Amino acid sequence: MDNSADLAVAQPGTYVRSPLSAVDPTVYELLVRQEQQERTTLKLIASENFASSAVLEATGSIFTNKYAEGYPGARYYAGTEIVDELENLAIERLKKLFGSEHANVQPYSGSPANQAVYRALLKPCDKVMGLPIPQGGHLTHGWAINFSGTDYRRVPYGLHEKTQEIDYDSLRDTAKRERPRLIWVGGTAYPRMFDYAAMAEIALELNAYLVADIAHISGLIAAGAHPNPVPHCDVVSSTSHKSIRGPRGGFILSRNEDRYQTVYHPKAKYNLARRIDRAVFPHLQGGPHMNVIAALAVALQEAANPSFRSYGQQTVKNAQALAQALLERGYDLVTGGTDNHMLILDLRNRPLSGKAYAELLAKAGIITNFNMVPGDPRDPAVTSGIRLGTPAVTSMGMREAQMMQVAGFIDAVLRRPDDEDLHASVRRDVADLCAAFEVPGIADR
Ligand SMILES: *Cc1c(COP(=O)(O)O)cnc(C)c1O
Repeated sequence: MDNSADLAVAQPGTYVRSPLSAVDPTVYELLVRQEQQERTTLKLIASENFASSAVLEATGSIFTNKYAEGYPGARYYAGTEIVDELENLAIERLKKLFGSEHANVQPYSGSPANQAVYRALLKPCDKVMGLPIPQGGHLTHGWAINFSGTDYRRVPYGLHEKTQEIDYDSLRDTAKRERPRLIWVGGTAYPRMFDYAAMAEIALELNAYLVADIAHISGLIAAGAHPNPVPHCDVVSSTSHKSIRGPRGGFILSRNEDRYQTVYHPKAKYNLARRIDRAVFPHLQGGPHMNVIAALAVALQEAANPSFRSYGQQTVKNAQALAQALLERGYDLVTGGTDNHMLILDLRNRPLSGKAYAELLAKAGIITNFNMVPGDPRDPAVTSGIRLGTPAVTSMGMREAQMMQVAGFIDAVLRRPDDEDLHASVRRDVADLCAAFEVPGIADR
């Protein structure tokens, strides 16, 4: 007889071996509903993906219990021999995959990783250049409501009005005038490649640190489907849960030595690598999440596999096929297309807001996010754009043919925003399409 649910209540302590469904049916039910949603809808959010079962298993493992403040070989807790091996494994895999001299795998996520970068390289009120959010930048690259905009002086750079790509000439002029100490290269809604070499030249000329934030594209870089900024940059930061398909977390890559140490940090006792490590712990964080580091190691093993190269390349091909199909249906895309895994629909000349369209698409089973477009006349809370991304659907095994179908679904919904019957019928078509593919990491229940 299965009396595990009774035991959970009757005898304190015994619940530790009961399944989630018995211990907490409420959370269990929410999990099952989320699984159901993810299995039957199209996950087109550019920052999301499906981590593999192995990655999820490591994330949910007993490594979650271990405290290991410090770094391998220099911990503040006993019993860390095994997690030392684990963290070193993740570090070595990361260094090898990206060709970097140093790696830190402890940041809790992308934003904490970027905080550590600021702390390691700058003093408060130093000048920082970054791409503003409406142009595709991230909150942490010097946005007014973020610590990066309140504790540092922000100098925005922008896009070329015609091409909507980064205007490197004007960036150079602004940088020369403003003399920032750090320049960010990277974004959260920028569908083109970055010219790392051009940025490095500007940074070098001005004694500025060049930091790439590859949160979105780290998987593409690992797959060889996007250029690697590591050779050009002082520091590279990333999340681990987007295109690289790992657990929720972050990492930082850097050179060992700081080429401006004598200029900006003459009294510093440590080199760049040590300063990054010390910024993460003990300056900003406490104990590392060893379960997440275990899962990162697994994801890096997967990313080093040749099949991941095909995955990265297919992700880009899918984004380009989706872009092409939408262009053919008369839609405007920011920059007119994509080089990576995302595209941004510019809906400024359509009647509804990006938010309203995203909500309609969600009713039809197409999960996206609304997004600012360059020159957006609408409030950031509603916007005039929608961002689409292919990492998750590519992880399900979809290819160009499915992207044509998806473009048809999107077009149908956006064209007839009031037709609820049509939305319901698209919802069924979407579910049928998804049913033909396997969703990584989601168990059959
Ligand atoms: C997602 C993202 C981050 C932040 O990651 P969180 O894990 O959400 O804190 C930082 N930078 C860029 C460019 C991103 O896209």
